Amino acid sequence: MTYVYRFGGGVSDGGKGDKNLLGGKGANLAEMASIGLPVPPGFTISTAMCTRYYEDGEQFPQELRDEVADGIAHIEAVTEKRFGDPENPLLVSVRSGARVSMPGMMDTVLNLGLNDETVEGLAKKAGDERFAWDSYRRFIQMYADVVLELDHGAFEEALEIAKEDNGFTLDTEMSAEDWKTLVTTYKRLVEEQWGKPFPQDVHDQLWGAVGAVFGSWQSERAKVYRRLNDIPADWGTAVNVQAMVFGNMGDTSATGVAFTRDPSKGDRAYYGEFLINAQGEDVVAGIRTPQYLTKAAREEANAKPASMEEAMPEVYAELAAVFDQLETHYRDMQDIEFTVEQAKLWMLQTRSGKRTAKAALKIAVDMANEGLITREEAIARVDPAALDQLLHPTLDPDAKRDVLTKGLPASPGAASGKVVFDADAAERAAAAGEAVILVRVETSPEDIHGMHAAKGILTARGGMTSHAAVVARGMGRPCVSGAGSLSIDNKAKLLRVGSREVREGDILTLDGSTGEVMVGAVATVQPELAGDFATLMEWADQVRRLKVRANAETPLDCRTAREFGAEGVGLCRTEHMFFDSARITAVRQMILASDEAGRRAALAKLLPEQRADFTAIFEVMAGLPVTVRLLDPPLHEFLPQQEAEFAEVATAAGVDVDTLKRRANELHEFNPMLGHRGCRLGVTYPEIYEIQARAIFEAALDVAEKSGEAPIPEVMIPLVATRRELELMKAVVDKAAQAVFAERGKTVEYLVGTMIELPRAALKAGEIAEVGEFFSFGTNDLTQTTLGVSRDDAARFLGVYVEKGIYAKDPFVSLDVDGVGELVSLAAERGRATRPGIKLGICGEHGGDPASIAFCETVGLDYVSASPYRVPIARLAAAQAAL
Ligand code: PEP
Ligand code: MG
Repeated sequence: MTYVYRFGGGVSDGGKGDKNLLGGKGANLAEMASIGLPVPPGFTISTAMCTRYYEDGEQFPQELRDEVADGIAHIEAVTEKRFGDPENPLLVSVRSGARVSMPGMMDTVLNLGLNDETVEGLAKKAGDERFAWDSYRRFIQMYADVVLELDHGAFEEALEIAKEDNGFTLDTEMSAEDWKTLVTTYKRLVEEQWGKPFPQDVHDQLWGAVGAVFGSWQSERAKVYRRLNDIPADWGTAVNVQAMVFGNMGDTSATGVAFTRDPSKGDRAYYGEFLINAQGEDVVAGIRTPQYLTKAAREEANAKPASMEEAMPEVYAELAAVFDQLETHYRDMQDIEFTVEQAKLWMLQTRSGKRTAKAALKIAVDMANEGLITREEAIARVDPAALDQLLHPTLDPDAKRDVLTKGLPASPGAASGKVVFDADAAERAAAAGEAVILVRVETSPEDIHGMHAAKGILTARGGMTSHAAVVARGMGRPCVSGAGSLSIDNKAKLLRVGSREVREGDILTLDGSTGEVMVGAVATVQPELAGDFATLMEWADQVRRLKVRANAETPLDCRTAREFGAEGVGLCRTEHMFFDSARITAVRQMILASDEAGRRAALAKLLPEQRADFTAIFEVMAGLPVTVRLLDPPLHEFLPQQEAEFAEVATAAGVDVDTLKRRANELHEFNPMLGHRGCRLGVTYPEIYEIQARAIFEAALDVAEKSGEAPIPEVMIPLVATRRELELMKAVVDKAAQAVFAERGKTVEYLVGTMIELPRAALKAGEIAEVGEFFSFGTNDLTQTTLGVSRDDAARFLGVYVEKGIYAKDPFVSLDVDGVGELVSLAAERGRATRPGIKLGICGEHGGDPASIAFCETVGLDYVSASPYRVPIARLAAAQAAL
């Protein structure tokens, strides 16, 4: 068969290696079946069909219809039931399954195959009329929502009314007759809204559901999820059609989800939730609060309802054995869905479980220590970008907390922000630069953009595997879920806990690691960098070739960078040192001066300040290389912008407002990014670079004298396009060095090099290397100038460019390897040809981006330089690139 792959009943047409074709769910169902686990029989329609479906204008080819008929025949043979048979009906589930899991993003239909006749057959076979009619009403409800896309509110309302009329509060109080009546109502609602009766032909039902699953791949929420997670639109989804098993056939039936290790902390303990007498969706949807899987977890949480280990000891033991088998087989922590139908265990899904960064680290290190995986695999397992979650502050344990309530610790980390009650408001507030906490009764896939915009998420309902929990963990957002004492009034925009009220805009703090919710902001502390983090980093350092430096210009940043393992400073942007309010006056004086003497007078004031800056940095980085870049930005950036500022600056600088305005006017540039900046400043006003160089060498000598350990300054000239520019600037720096060395009677080692951040510089790197002793690729400007896209204005249209696939990712975030990358490798090659062994690094934002770091490894750069918090990410990414 071409598009249909069967599994179960001793058959497995596919296996775990077929994720691209069968999606994760389909591939793993086939794999589980092939290793003898109890998997209900079924078949997978491949992702290739999804692609063809869209190519063919959303049509199913006859070929597929024939193959699906064979697939159904396979399920019928194994289950000894028949699809649409009024006596012995086969029911199936129809689920989506892409290559990577997209939790809650796509559609599922359960109990398909029920109609007015088969429901009777099901009732007879199961010996349970209530169950059969409950299943039928669930099916109509789901089908109406997912496939027919009718207003699901009307169905929920009808159920609420039915319960109210009977004086019930719980679904479980409804009798067979009550469900039967509701089915009639539901069918009427379908006919009213859809204009046609509910489809009674089971094959029509099936094709409707298959179409809906393919259709869900192009739903808005799936598109948003793909954009946020860099999932290409052309992957498509597979469709899994599988015999139903029922967790809702009484008290010996159950359904649950589990992880083979704790996905939040990483501990080696089974972790999960289950519900007796329930269908799978009930657990994930967070409608009923589920029970614990293990006795230990129940006791730790001080919860009452029996755990699965206690309530169903035999099935639990069987399940635990399956957990171990799956973990050994897949050599990774698994996320599992299972159902118990009348004391018989069925496996419905397994996949590598999503986990927090903390858990990823712990599991990788533990598994390597257990011998389940190698250290190299452990390194490869941890997503460098996810380390971000670990490197940020957590709540200060000693800070005062005004605890409002406690929920489940669904996703770790701490966050404070203003309360908002809907996703759109979260997005708006975040766009305006505000930190917000999104508060919802429970989240649904429609909230995803708001969850992304929020600093933290708080829900009143839902367990540890609810949508909110799973999505928040994936995004690295702190989340407290299932805070049951919370009552939310969306209309009045407030929440209540007992007699306390919190209104929209009030500040809340969440601790996603403990589940605590606090009123007001709470102080935070720096993260713990010992333990598993240190171990993995040590392993990474053993395998990486690339050195990792930091972009830093304050002693504090340098200290942070060193703690995170930086091996030097790759970019100290000296202009950032001048923005300081105390200094800007001298800088402005320098800019306003009309001649060299005036500039020198102002520079003389700045010299001691610069020297002190460099001294402080060299002290922290003693023994390590520090690349100091001489002044780069356009001068007018230092000038006042507002009317009021003009008067102030004029007084401080000792000129009148008119003169100041005239000078500001002269300095105004239409495209300052390509104007009078970089070495063009040094070429026109050499004294600026001279004084900066002097400050560097004086500081270096001071530190060498004091600590006995000389720093290794690497003086870097920005925005060079030609050999001659660098030659002129190097002469200025060398002259300053000679002067300082002569005055002090001492010398330090130093290098003078350049940034390669213009296409001409990349092309002429061979010539430039005759003068330059090192290159550092300034890929921010190199991207800007190669693409002809302004760094400052790109955000307005780049999103659309990425959406349309013109660039795979934002080229200012992840290096455009094809274009800009070619210039980088060409420059590296030409530079090395002139000066073998020339030191090569990268200091643009890309130096902290794992994909770009992988590219730097292939070009053989010596180091990458990233902002301090990204240093560990870069260390790990560099190790992965070297594997
Ligand atoms: C660059 O252009 O890549 C660079 C690091 O310099 P800046 O961002 O300061 O222009
Ligand atoms: Mg630059």
